[in-house]
Amino acid sequence: MANNEALTEKTLILVKPDAIQRGLVGRILERFETKGLKLVGLKMMTLDEAVLREHYAHIADKPFFPGVAKFMQSTPVIAMCFEGLEVVETVRRITGITKAREAEAGSIRGDFAMSVSCNVIHASDSVKTAEKEVKRFFKSDDLHVYDKSEYMHVYGEDERSV
Ligand code: ADP
Repeated sequence: MANNEALTEKTLILVKPDAIQRGLVGRILERFETKGLKLVGLKMMTLDEAVLREHYAHIADKPFFPGVAKFMQSTPVIAMCFEGLEVVETVRRITGITKAREAEAGSIRGDFAMSVSCNVIHASDSVKTAEKEVKRFFKSDDLHVYDKSEYMHVYGEDERSV
């Protein structure tokens, strides 16, 4: 049985420069909203060198890293923090695989992108990573706590109970 703490699992999404240029921000946000996830943080920002290096440390030694860095700094990005039950895994499924042209139809990358590098969004890949990534992009004051009345219809009583 889930408890209130389980409902506050958080994940980080970055809307990448290709999506900003292509006017996909609203449609991307809508996908997560209509799924029933709770938006608790939203911020537009330009990624500085330090954040970029930290965020992409796992690909820093790859030959494509300089290209990714240049792309990610080509416009501001939009950081979103969503909450929900098992939200990290759910958002990864909605996001689709890295190589967008092979991503499942219905996923965001599957529906909106063709590229490996320009794949419209970043989404945290595990609960542990999400905890670090949310802190990387949001100060605790930037994350909002509120009741979402819709939860009555998004989750069953057992999933909502303490
Ligand atoms: P994901 O974003 O699906 O979790 P990774 O963490 O492996 O994927 O890679 C981070 C980002 O680096 C990808 O979203 C993509 O923008 C870029 N990237 C990954 N692999 C490649 C590649 N082979 N060529 C170009 N860019 C890549």
